[in-house]
Amino acid sequence: MKALLIVSDGMGDRPNKKLGGKTPLQAAKTPNLDYVAKIGCCGIMDTIAPGIPPGSDTAHLAIFGYDPHEYYTGRGAFEALGVGIHVNPGDVALRVNFATLQEEEKGLRIVDRRAGRKVPEGDKLAEKLNEYSLKTAKDVEFTLKHSVEHRGVLVLSGPGLSYKVSDTDSHEIQETVQESKPLDGSKEALKTAKIVNELSTAFHKILKNDPLNQERINRGEPPANGVLMRGAGILPKVIPLNEKYGISCSCVAAAALYRGVAAAVGMKLYKAPGDTATYETNEESIAKTALDILPENDLVFIHFKPTDNAAHDGNPELKVQMIEKLDNMVGKLIEGIDLENEHYIVLTADHTTPCTIRDHTGEPVPLEMAGPGVRTDQTTAFSEIDCQGGGLGRLRGKDLMPIIMDYLRKTRIFGS
Ligand code: ZN
Ligand code: ZN
Repeated sequence: MKALLIVSDGMGDRPNKKLGGKTPLQAAKTPNLDYVAKIGCCGIMDTIAPGIPPGSDTAHLAIFGYDPHEYYTGRGAFEALGVGIHVNPGDVALRVNFATLQEEEKGLRIVDRRAGRKVPEGDKLAEKLNEYSLKTAKDVEFTLKHSVEHRGVLVLSGPGLSYKVSDTDSHEIQETVQESKPLDGSKEALKTAKIVNELSTAFHKILKNDPLNQERINRGEPPANGVLMRGAGILPKVIPLNEKYGISCSCVAAAALYRGVAAAVGMKLYKAPGDTATYETNEESIAKTALDILPENDLVFIHFKPTDNAAHDGNPELKVQMIEKLDNMVGKLIEGIDLENEHYIVLTADHTTPCTIRDHTGEPVPLEMAGPGVRTDQTTAFSEIDCQGGGLGRLRGKDLMPIIMDYLRKTRIFGS
């Protein structure tokens, strides 16, 4: 017995006037999603808890069976794992942006949080920054790795560090670069904040004089003369899924965060060719990669990103199209599996992202599953509304993995 777990990011939505009062899921043509609802069981799920708008990181932790209130230790370490940086227990990782800064009396003003988004010099600039050695803490080393566009990750390694430090990124242009502050009274947080502040200042000094930035200015591009830091995190202390349930599990995802959460809970990482995590993503390639690796896995997690992108862009018509792309992917998956005898398919979202709000909100997400022995219910279509009456009722995100593992016969009887 094997299971496919598909999470369509931010798929949940609200009724939308532009869609005649339907949600994007109701408005989309989804024969394959509806088929799974018809032969299987549906429900709704509060990935964290009712009324709590989930972040993608906490929501995925919960869906993988780890209560984020207990296990969430910031986003940074997931990002680092997701871009292929090794993170040791105790290392503090931060997400970073190359940015364009302007020196002013009150401090460094943020002119462009993304330094024009295109920073092909990122690898070379990171190399130069990595030559710097810390003055405030001689026992700590750091590595800055550029990933894509203006983005990267900074990892601090050494004794006595804490992820309880605030961002230097003010998240708003025209604001000044913030001083990182300890978020609790610990000496570890104080030490880490000092390091972050030293690097923030030192990186600007190194970058502003770099010839590559002079070339950018000569070409009329904004210089990448600063590094904004945010989302400090450490690896969560979890018993990974492979140990907890004795399964082999893998992830098919393109975006760093989801790959990172999957890696942190013991999944092997795969990326489908043409999976861009954008509107252009090749959904059939994602399905093919998942089917290719299914034989050597008990559980394959597939992350589908563009539904959330369309919602953040406030575009319900585009979200409908992305849901139809998801439906096509599910169709290809169903063709390649045996739902009567061998395989389970489970499909849900990590949170609701209403196109009208353009951000995550706290409503439950729809959930469907089908496979050998799964009880049916009266639900024959897949949407937020249809699933409300389903046989799975209303779950918490952390309840989902035990349900899947029970079907795979990987759980033990409680009592005797
Ligand atoms: Zn999400
Ligand atoms: Zn989102």
